[in-house]
Amino acid sequence: MATIAFIGLGNMGNPMAANLVKAGHTVLGFDLMPDNLTVAKEHGVTVMASAVAAVKDADVVITMLPAGKHVLSVYEGVAPKAKKGALFIDSSTIDVESARKAHAIAAKHGLQSIDAPVSGGTGGAAAGTLTFMAGGSDEAFAAAEPILKPMAGRVVHCGGASAGQAAKICNNMILGISMIGVAEAFVLAEKLGLSHQALYDVASTSSGQCWSLTTYCPVPGPVPASPANRDYKPGFAAALMLKDLKLSQEAAQNAGAATPLGAEATQLYALFNAQGHAGADFSGIINFLRGDKS
Ligand code: NAD
Repeated sequence: MATIAFIGLGNMGNPMAANLVKAGHTVLGFDLMPDNLTVAKEHGVTVMASAVAAVKDADVVITMLPAGKHVLSVYEGVAPKAKKGALFIDSSTIDVESARKAHAIAAKHGLQSIDAPVSGGTGGAAAGTLTFMAGGSDEAFAAAEPILKPMAGRVVHCGGASAGQAAKICNNMILGISMIGVAEAFVLAEKLGLSHQALYDVASTSSGQCWSLTTYCPVPGPVPASPANRDYKPGFAAALMLKDLKLSQEAAQNAGAATPLGAEATQLYALFNAQGHAGADFSGIINFLRGDKS
């Protein structure tokens, strides 16, 4: 069993750390928010006074932070104090450029590192069924895989440094675009007098089939578990979808990739967020497309 430092015990980090404790690891946790530390303690995490205090005797350091700037600032602060050869795993969703810098900081201090963002949300974090998309050397991945297992349904090695972040933003760009496509089709169906169920019955078994339709259907009825059935309570909040779409566009610009639908989806989610729906599920964009004012 390993000694694991866990930095960033928010909505995702706390349930992930709890699953590591359940698996028998010693988890030393740190977060800037005292309330989150109280929850962590209830889960059996040993709360530390600082990130450096959590990291200095740890075999593994996991970060679950809001954005690239937070990850880089934590890495710069703790990497010089970490045990030589310790494994750094960043599971935050961050920009590809910052992920590369984080790997470089780790390498400079003789540490192993992988980027390992997740898909599956807070439900997956609590259930220990997250999908991890990992980027880093074969050696670092082999060391990380057994650590990630208690938090994971699936762990995929996507390639070298930052490949995990690349996979995450490409996947979520598909998701943002496909949700808008499905929502537009339902709005058109309404205007044409076609029932939601009829469109669902045809498209779910035809070439329009996709996750946004069959798992996350943006209208109430056809898929009882989708957020549309509970007034678009997330689920996956529109603010997080916008964050990931912006990351995809930043990466596309840096890499010189043409992603016109990704750009359009980013604009539409920016408008939806600006109308006060940042906390709603991202499938609620159907109401915006329909022109609903509320
Ligand atoms: P969150 O805001 O709930 O948690 C982030 C935590 O980091 C906060 O508790 C904050 O206090 C802490 N923090 C910030 N700077 C810190 C520092 N310097 N030292 C210590 N702690 C610090 O966010 P979350 O929902 O847990 O998301 C975390 C990451 O996971 C994000 O990158 C997000 O995009 C990604 N993600 C979230 C979801 C989701 O459904 N919430 C799903 C997939 C991926």
